[in-house]
Amino acid sequence: MIKVFEDFNFTRVGQMQSLLESHGIRTFIRNEYGSSVVGELPFVEVIPQLYVLEEKDAAKAIELLNLDLPAEDSGEQWVCPECGVDVEGNFSRCWKCGVNRRD
Ligand SMILES: [Zn+2]
Repeated sequence: MIKVFEDFNFTRVGQMQSLLESHGIRTFIRNEYGSSVVGELPFVEVIPQLYVLEEKDAAKAIELLNLDLPAEDSGEQWVCPECGVDVEGNFSRCWKCGVNRRD
């Protein structure tokens, strides 16, 4: 088994598992129920970890995960043409007035 992903957020790990399984990659999650024993074990023992069963699938799995993960920097701030507020680059609409971004 090859570990391809881990996250404290089990929901996130589950989403990644679904993504890989939808591409025909067989996966396995360790520490699935880790949250129930937090405090009794070091955190490294309980963080949910996503594995692929077949070594040959690992490279594809990692590629899929990288595609799905949001970019660290999702773009520059933009200024709403309607109300003039600054909007973070990862929003496609103004948070204040709801106007769509215009490029
Ligand atoms: Zn606006």
